[in-house]
Amino acid sequence: MRAIVLDSPGQPLRAAELPDPVPGPGDLLLRVRACGVCRTDLHLRDGELPAGHTPLVLGHQIVGEVLAAGAEVAGTRGVQLGARVGVPWLGWTCGECRYCTSGRENLCARAQFTGCDRDGGYAELTVADARFCFPLPGPLSDEQLAPLLCAGLIGYRALQMTGDAQRLGLYGFGSAAHLICQVAVHEGREVFAFTREGDRAGQRFARGLGATWAGTSTQRPPEELDAALIFAPVGALVPLALRAVARGGSVICAGIHMSDIPSFPYADLWGERTLRSVANLTRQDGEAFLALAPRVPLRTQVTSYPLDAAEQALADLRAGAFEGAAVLQIA
Ligand SMILES: [Zn+2]
Ligand SMILES: [Zn+2]
Repeated sequence: MRAIVLDSPGQPLRAAELPDPVPGPGDLLLRVRACGVCRTDLHLRDGELPAGHTPLVLGHQIVGEVLAAGAEVAGTRGVQLGARVGVPWLGWTCGECRYCTSGRENLCARAQFTGCDRDGGYAELTVADARFCFPLPGPLSDEQLAPLLCAGLIGYRALQMTGDAQRLGLYGFGSAAHLICQVAVHEGREVFAFTREGDRAGQRFARGLGATWAGTSTQRPPEELDAALIFAPVGALVPLALRAVARGGSVICAGIHMSDIPSFPYADLWGERTLRSVANLTRQDGEAFLALAPRVPLRTQVTSYPLDAAEQALADLRAGAFEGAAVLQIA
């Protein structure tokens, strides 16, 4: 199969011919139709996060078509040849640790992640553990669906952690924020979007998706926020966001990697403000979010690239060269 591989962090991705993957007894063999490009892929590419192995096939927002099923799963759980399924970041968990047995499989210390520990979707074919795949029925196109599988559903997990916060700040208005903005507006919340300095296009994009206000991250919003989600990998946003939320409010860091957080006065946290991170996803998050998506209904803003242009897609993500999400269109 044709694939794009990461040989060593900091080096450009390389096109390669790899042997077709062989599904294990509990796996599905999938033809990859589309794979979303996530900032985590960029962190792995740039060596800010450790790759599970090399050469590694990145990509964990996979929309695939079932070509074959392992002996244990063939014919079960609605697994049909030709069915469209989604493969997210959480690729496997142990199922027996104290996290797995208490509804917190996202924190399993032995978890394996797609496109990091297991080869992912920057390829024509992939295999995935059937228990961690989501059925993807409905009218949305492959490219519309792919970004929902990480940007959407981890963003949704982060949104859930804000409880019923009415005034919601979104710091970094990229793939995740443009989806979560729509969910938040659908739920009747007010969205305040924060972009990089001078990103007028990003601010217009946010207002077009229903944000009440859009400005730069160093600006104070016109009203105190009840909660803020930080999607940009910039630690300096943490004290800014804490200063923008009201007493009792929360700041949720939704990315897997962030530059160091500068020190800040305790007064910024005082008043029962909460600061926390969101790690990974549970399958329950995915099921809830994918059921909600058509009810919003979510519209994904997509920039498509062919598989061979994966390195370019990552460069464009690094440069903030597009609004919304980048997707590799493969089959
Ligand atoms: Zn576990
Ligand atoms: Zn991701």
